[in-house]
Amino acid sequence: MRPWVTTVAGDADLPEAVELVVIGGGIIGCSAALWAAEQGLRVALLEKGRIAGEQSGRNWGWVRRMGRAAAEYPLGIASLTLWAGLNARIGRDTGFRRCGIVYGAGSAREEAWLDGVEAEARRFGLGVTRLDRAGLADHFPGARLAATTALMTADDGRAEPALAAPALAEGARDAGAAVLTNCAVRGLETEAGRVSAVVTERGVIRCGAAILAAGAWSRLFCGNLGIDLPQVRVRSSVLRTAPVAGGPALALGTGRFGIRPRADGGYTVARRG
Ligand SMILES: Cc1cc2nc3c(=O)[nH]c(=O)nc-3n(C[C@H](O)[C@H](O)[C@H](O)COP(=O)(O)OP(=O)(O)OC[C@H]3O[C@@H](n4cnc5c(N)ncnc54)[C@H](O)[C@@H]3O)c2cc1C
Repeated sequence: MRPWVTTVAGDADLPEAVELVVIGGGIIGCSAALWAAEQGLRVALLEKGRIAGEQSGRNWGWVRRMGRAAAEYPLGIASLTLWAGLNARIGRDTGFRRCGIVYGAGSAREEAWLDGVEAEARRFGLGVTRLDRAGLADHFPGARLAATTALMTADDGRAEPALAAPALAEGARDAGAAVLTNCAVRGLETEAGRVSAVVTERGVIRCGAAILAAGAWSRLFCGNLGIDLPQVRVRSSVLRTAPVAGGPALALGTGRFGIRPRADGGYTVARRG
């Protein structure tokens, strides 16, 4: 089912030497490669399959500040600012939109949690609006929701997983990075205790540093180097609908599910938590 992840064609040739290798072409690796290339570093972004072929191409795509651990709020706030300028910065569409996000609560326990979220959001200066049943009905007409109260951040948003990491990878390439796909990194070489090269399935690239952004594979990669990286794998299912006429414009998380509108007019629906 559409939307398919935008294909990023890999470069034909492996560079001999760069200053920085980024391992993994998900949203983290593509962002790191973009940032480093923009700083003027010679960068190679190496992806074992296709760009955004794993979780970065199939997530909910919420760009959210609300409902975070306190330590994450400053990061979430800075991140939203970066997202808002990203399309102009790279001259490509990440799908970022300020669609607004709503959290609903339908039980006393959920309401207590929502009260805590509201207090924390206000403490960090977020513009939040409390909705009652009537407010929820206004924003989600016709929906039969168990939620009796909700919290809305009108300026939180979403990006399109099918577009975002590919756009960042192309942006990194525009800034001078080499982008290699179908190019798994097998290991690292070191000299005097520092990374000196990465060994890929297509040959060796000498480098001064490497960033590991291999997502769920990072623990395995580190394990091969004798480094213990505590990481939990969580499997989750997400479904996509075809375009739906007249559906809500806001993203919603309530009870056990979450929905959010996509740019193609369809919805991404998933279990929460
Ligand atoms: C169901 C679901 C919903 C989510 N919803 C949201 C959300 O709404 N908002 C949000 O911000 N986050 C959300 N997330 C989290 C978000 O998707 C992840 O945090 C993010 O995609 C992680 O990006 P990444 O680049 O670290 O990893 P990945 O996207 O997994 O990328 C890692 C890449 O590294 C490559 N790789 C691995 N090993 C090697 C190797 N040896 N050599 C070369 N390449 C290698 C892989 O092929 C992969 O492409 C969600 C996640 C899931 C699963």
